[in-house]
Order: sequence, then structure tokens, then C-alpha cells
Amino acid sequence: MYQHFPDFDDHVLVTHRQDTPSGLNAFIAVHNENRGPAMGGCRILKYGSTDLAIKDVLRLSRGMTYKNAIANIPYGGGKAVIIADPRVEKTTRLLHAMGDFVQSLHGRYITSFDSGTTLDDVNTIGVRTEFAAGTLAEAGNASGSTASGVYYCMRAAAERVHGTSDLGGLTVAIQGVGNVGRRLAEKLAADGAKLIVADIETQNARAVAQATGATVVGVDEILLADADILSPCALGGVLSPQSIPDLKVKIVVGGANNQLVSADDDERLQHAGILYCPDYLANAGGIIDLYYQRSTWTSEAVDKHVRQLADTFHEVVERSRATRLGTAKVTDAIAQERFSFGGRETA
Ligand code: NAD
Repeated sequence: MYQHFPDFDDHVLVTHRQDTPSGLNAFIAVHNENRGPAMGGCRILKYGSTDLAIKDVLRLSRGMTYKNAIANIPYGGGKAVIIADPRVEKTTRLLHAMGDFVQSLHGRYITSFDSGTTLDDVNTIGVRTEFAAGTLAEAGNASGSTASGVYYCMRAAAERVHGTSDLGGLTVAIQGVGNVGRRLAEKLAADGAKLIVADIETQNARAVAQATGATVVGVDEILLADADILSPCALGGVLSPQSIPDLKVKIVVGGANNQLVSADDDERLQHAGILYCPDYLANAGGIIDLYYQRSTWTSEAVDKHVRQLADTFHEVVERSRATRLGTAKVTDAIAQERFSFGGRETA
């Protein structure tokens, strides 16, 4: 019944649960499990229609297959969506019912947080299922590992463009200094990079400026900043036919998801002479952290694995230069090789 959705891509499982007493109305999709059980967050959103929720769960679960493969963790791709307003309908009862739904799949899908859900919510879901990840106390917030992955990929990009991975003296413009952007700014400042930051919540930008010496600019100015590197760490859709011609940077590496408005923007960046690290490669540090939280988490093991994202990015750049394909297309091809049968690798 899901085959007619354009985002359906031979998903191995799409399942729905409606539970009137708790108000749960949720979908779980498992796109691919060649590498292992499907892992991906649980989104809570007041979707305008059931079809929009299905479209989202199909699209997001497919994205997790690619991300988990590029992260080189033994997980397939899955995602859950709950149709509800997270501000008023996210009750303990609803989250427990979601835990029961996840548990009913016996580990084929492992859930975590996403937009509309917090670490506390994952803990609440985890009261009813053993298949909830990301709340290991000693691990702290996985956003730190996401920021590390962005940082290592940024160093790799600098090496390609400037001949050295040293970011000291380079200027980095960061759009959005929340969980990821703020931690990234701290790392970059420690390396002696010059920072330009913007955040729609001006107090976030000011706090980072105070801690790192960054220059604060308006949210309309950050994409135009006179910098070496742009790091989108706020929202998707920032790289478009409109924005790309105005960019002054030679490198884009950031934590935000879905940075390209369309697949053509991959070549548009390439033709503009801008080296782009595909978003789901740059921001895969967080999912690597979650994998270790479900096996044997140590900060050293996570960091060692997260650093390998930079090796993958070097491979992407090599192949991009050899094939003249954009880096996003090359990254997709490498991910496909890793999740296709025969391409299985584990950490
Ligand atoms: P966050 O909400 O903590 O931070 C985002 C920041 O961007 C906030 O401070 C917000 O005020 C700001 N912002 C929003 N719109 C803006 C705009 N138009 N211009 C400038 N600033 C704006 O989120 P986060 O956890 O840091 O995640 C950032 C991005 O990275 C998101 O796209 C998220 O999906 C993605 N991501 C995060 C993680 C993670 O581990 N946190 C992992 C993978 C991907």
C-alpha cells in the first residue's frame, strides 16, 4: 500500500500504529537492514495529513540507510514519526505507547531523538523498550560527536584546498550556534581560527562571541560573509541557485541536514570551485556516538571512529576529481556500495 508514494524505495517494512487511549498515531519505516538493525530518530510533528507523515518517514528512513553506511556502523536505516503537536500532545502515555510500538518490532528498529523529541523523551520511550539509544549518562550529549565530525571533515577540506589541515588563521562563518555550532566554534577557536557567527536567537550568537571572540553578524549576512569556510549548522536548504553565486567561501562543511535545495546544487557548487562536504557525511558523528552507546562507549573509541569520517571525505574528493561528479553524488555512491549486499563492513 506504500508503493505508490514517490519516496517508497523498496523499504523492507513500513508499519503503522493507532492507539486511541494514548493518542498515538505513528509510523515506523525500515528502509534497509543489510548492515544490521535499522537505527534512526523518532520525529514528532503535527503533520498536515497522514500522507505527509508517510512521505516523511519513507524519505527519512532511506536517508538513515545512507548515513549509517557512510558512518560505517553496523546499522541499517529506519525512522519513526508520530503525528502530534509536540508542544501539547507529547504526554508520558503517548511516549510509553511509542515504546511499546518500538518493542513490538523486537529490535528490527532502534529509536532515538529527532525534531520534536528530546533526550528526556527517549528516556521515557526507553521505559517500555530496550531499543532506544542516546541516553547513556556518561556519553553526555551526542551533539559533541557531531561537532567533532564536522571539525575533522573541515580539516580534511582545508588540506585539499589549502594544502594543510591546520585551520589556524582561516576564517569560518557558522550559521547557527546551537548544540552543534556552539561546540564547533569552541574547537575552531582553540585552533586559532577566526570566527563569524549568526543565530536567529541573538543571545546564542552573543554567548559564543563572548566565549570565542567571534564576530557576530545578522542572519541575512552570514552566507555572504567574507570567509574561507561556511559551516551551515542551523537549518536545511541553504545551498541553492540563489545563494551559491553569492558565496565567497571555497569550502562548505556543516552539521545541518539537507543543505542542498536540489541535486543540481551539487554540480553548481563544483562549478563555482567550492568544495562541499555532503551534510550526512559531515554530521555522522552523532550517530556513531549512538552506536557506541549501544555497544561499548568510550570517548576514545568514538573519537577514533568519528575521525574516519575525514578519511571517507578524502576518498570522496579523490573520486569526485577522477569522475568529475559532484561530491554529493560520489558520497551517495560510496554509501550504496557499503549497504549493498557484499559491501558489508563493520566498525
Ligand atoms: P539546535 O536547535 O541546537 O541549533 C540550531 C541553532 O540554529 C539554534 O541556535 C537556532 O536558533 C539557530 N537558527 C535557526 N534558524 C536560523 C537561521 N535562519 N539563521 C541562523 N541561525 C538559525 O540544533 P543542533 O542540534 O545544533 O542541530 C543543528 C543542525 O544540525 C540541524 O539541522 C540538525 O538537524 C543537524 N544535526 C544535528 C545533530 C546533533 O547531533 N545535534 C546531528 C545531525 C544533524
